[in-house]
Amino acid sequence: MKSLLPSPMATSAPTPVPQLIDGYGRQMRKLRVSLLEACNFRCFYCMPAAMRFAAHPKQLSATELHAICRALVSGGISQIRVTGGEPTLRKDFREVMTALASLPLEKFGMTSNGFLLEPYLPLLKALGCHYLNISLDSLQAENFNRMTRSMGFEKVMSSILKAHEMGFQLKLNTVILRGENDHELLDFVRFSEATGIEVRFLELMKIGMARQFQPEAFISAEEQITQIQNTFSLRPIVVEKDATAFSFQTQGGGKIGFIASESRPFCGDCSRLRLSHDGKLRACLMLNQGKSLRDLSEPELLKVTRQVMALKPFQRIESVAQNMYRIGG
Ligand code: SAM
Ligand code: SF4
Repeated sequence: MKSLLPSPMATSAPTPVPQLIDGYGRQMRKLRVSLLEACNFRCFYCMPAAMRFAAHPKQLSATELHAICRALVSGGISQIRVTGGEPTLRKDFREVMTALASLPLEKFGMTSNGFLLEPYLPLLKALGCHYLNISLDSLQAENFNRMTRSMGFEKVMSSILKAHEMGFQLKLNTVILRGENDHELLDFVRFSEATGIEVRFLELMKIGMARQFQPEAFISAEEQITQIQNTFSLRPIVVEKDATAFSFQTQGGGKIGFIASESRPFCGDCSRLRLSHDGKLRACLMLNQGKSLRDLSEPELLKVTRQVMALKPFQRIESVAQNMYRIGG
């Protein structure tokens, strides 16, 4: 007579998910995906004015990007942020974003300069890409256009206000540079109070061409906070352990954060991996070494990912010659 008890197969535990945890116990949760190197701006600390981009023959297709990201999600990645270069310049931007949005993610976001963003906002909303970081180095049209070597201020500001109106989780990224935009620090705080949009001040990192003038242009988060506190009272906000920014609320309802990658590096708690448009996986923004995940089966891909994770530094690497737009900021 056939037993009514379930077979041992049916009662055995489900196959454990292969977690991406490194030798320091850091679980990789966040993936930055650079869609391309090209950009329509030439921010003076990021790219040379005369930079030219050719079509990249090795760029991963939307299908390849999706397959790689799906494998990494199976290893525990739960947050993906798309970046570049300027991600909205990808010809197949819709296809890529639609493919990535189909993954089971806790958070799906994008970092953009905002210039071509506005027409894409309804699509991003529909896809659940709620977390937008838009770069804005100046609130003054002339200064913005000078720093980005563009004529983009009006369009970027329009994208920012529209994204805010549509209810995106929006953060502005502002790299504060001595003699360039540090006179606008308090204006940015006022802007946050007036609009309710969070502004995050980034320390200039010793990356690529920014290394040439980083010592003179660098302003530490501490110096910025001291300046702001002369006018505004700041109340700290609790953030996640692996967050890059520490944040404050102002009495007037503004929200500001500081990404102090130079003066207060967060490498020991970092949970980020970086995939570039050609399929190379890196374990750190400051490390050019990495390995290609292209054309690998899922088990092979996770094995190579662990090899890359073994390179992940625990302490901040001083500087890197590779430009940020190559790796994806
Ligand atoms: N093009 C998009 C944008 O500008 O938002 C995404 C890529 S960009 C490389 C991402 C961010 O990196 C921008 O906010 C930019 O200001 C920042 N960035 C570039 N070079 C930097 C540096 N040397 N130090 C700090 N931040 C930098
Ligand atoms: Fe382009 Fe972003 Fe670099 Fe500016 S910071 S040049 S917008 S990639």
